[in-house]
Amino acid sequence: MPNRLLLHVAENKKLEAIATRNRLTRPIVDRYVAGRGLDEAWTATKALNRAGIDVSLDLLGESVHHLAQSKAATQEYLGAIENIRNQAPGSTVSVKLSQLGIMIDPQECANNLKALLTAATTHGATVEVDMEHSSVGRETLAIYKSILPDHPNSRLAIQANMRQTPEDLLSFTDIKPRIRLVKGAFDESSSDALCDADEVTEQYKYLSRWALQHLPDPAFGTHDDTCIGVVKETAAELGLDKRDFEFQMLYGVRRKLQDELVRDGYRVRVYLPYGTQWYPYLMRRMAEKPANLLLFLRSLIGG
Ligand SMILES: Cc1cc2nc3c(=O)[nH]c(=O)nc-3n(C[C@H](O)[C@H](O)[C@H](O)COP(=O)(O)OP(=O)(O)OC[C@H]3O[C@@H](n4cnc5c(N)ncnc54)[C@H](O)[C@@H]3O)c2cc1C
Repeated sequence: MPNRLLLHVAENKKLEAIATRNRLTRPIVDRYVAGRGLDEAWTATKALNRAGIDVSLDLLGESVHHLAQSKAATQEYLGAIENIRNQAPGSTVSVKLSQLGIMIDPQECANNLKALLTAATTHGATVEVDMEHSSVGRETLAIYKSILPDHPNSRLAIQANMRQTPEDLLSFTDIKPRIRLVKGAFDESSSDALCDADEVTEQYKYLSRWALQHLPDPAFGTHDDTCIGVVKETAAELGLDKRDFEFQMLYGVRRKLQDELVRDGYRVRVYLPYGTQWYPYLMRRMAEKPANLLLFLRSLIGG
């Protein structure tokens, strides 16, 4: 399970300022973040495309408190969407509704999301909506449901660790959503979420079967060999083609495995973050693999 202390550290603004200013953190940031701007993100995207891997572009930044910030993020995403066809067809964009203003004004956030979805339709791209902490989870689900009829190609991340998830999935009646099933990266209370790693993995296995049986084109966002194995076996058992679903992984994590999956005929998409506001994202990655934390702390103190 993600390390809870580190997930708290991810929200600490003072540490964020120290870590972001410290140039010695660069090597570990570079492992997980594809670049500071869109140009670098395209370069990393094209390298992955050459290896047969698609990407989902993620502009770093979250939990904004001013509408001007959410407008700026929307503009940045529009710039990416308008260029997808020329730069890297097949790419998607992944957006966090806390970056589009959900904590300030849910209606404004929905408008920002609609602007991205409309542009994506025009430019042949797809929008994926990340699922964040449960404090914005219900609102995220409500906004996603409101846009789904007009944008059935969009995708929503669904967290296996959340107790509410099976019920949420059943609540989609007329239009079945395209989902990205993930374990869940946030610090949640035991009343809301499963907190034991084995239980989360079991729930992931159960939900992956359910998704393969009931949902269109599901994506499995995981690096876990057990979960990946179960998805492959279940899909084969259900008579699905290897290209009826996709695996998704994070930039910088298990790169060799991505190649192996492509070689075996599976679709693979890498979630590719770029931008300068990397701190909360990176700390969540450290929380998932605390061995990485030592490297990060060493870089902070210059060791
Ligand atoms: C494409 C994608 C999109 C995601 N979107 C969301 C989202 O919208 N909302 C959300 O809550 N979570 C999201 N996540 C994160 C997810 O919830 C998990 O926290 C994360 O994927 C780790 O879980 P795991 O399934 O890889 O299994 P784990 O059991 O955590 O990891 C399995 C193995 O993968 C490797 N690994 C995992 N994480 C790391 C890492 N950070 N660094 C190095 N190696 C690692 C290790 O070898 C580890 O043993 C996303 C993950 C992916 C891959």
